[in-house]
Amino acid sequence: MKKKISQTAVHEAGHVVIGHILGIKHKSVTIEVEQHEFGLTAGYVRYYHRPAIFKVYIGEDTAPKRTVIRKIENFVKAYLAGPLSEGKFVGKHTQEQISGYKLDFENSARYAKNAFGDQGDKELIRLLNETENLVSQNWRKIKAFATILEKARTLNGTQLLNILNEL
Ligand SMILES: [Zn+2]
Repeated sequence: MKKKISQTAVHEAGHVVIGHILGIKHKSVTIEVEQHEFGLTAGYVRYYHRPAIFKVYIGEDTAPKRTVIRKIENFVKAYLAGPLSEGKFVGKHTQEQISGYKLDFENSARYAKNAFGDQGDKELIRLLNETENLVSQNWRKIKAFATILEKARTLNGTQLLNILNEL
């Protein structure tokens, strides 16, 4: 199935706009098709710092642990915001209906499992709901960013930050 460029642009805009709101720094975003080790992507976001996939010890409640968990939650939301934005744009909502869903959802589920152990699935549903709200609240910005990205096709970190600050 070939995806429309506007659909890809909204998907990537969802990642970037929601990520930015949550304090995530972006290296670049593109809607060009790229070959990666895991396959072809219709669009792609590069980050400066991604939390390492490691086990956060569930039993101990400490300040550093809470900081790491908050960081992981923010990345999960940024990942989910792509397919959720795309789904809102095309009026479809299941993993099967949205072509860009699989990889983002797998990343989210893996982070959630590492952060929350066997509570991962439950926490992922909470994060999905929270992200859905974030996407709705910022829908105007996501669509505005998508329109600019559709024309530019690729934006570096400085360019996208300037655009985000103007939205
Ligand atoms: Zn994505």
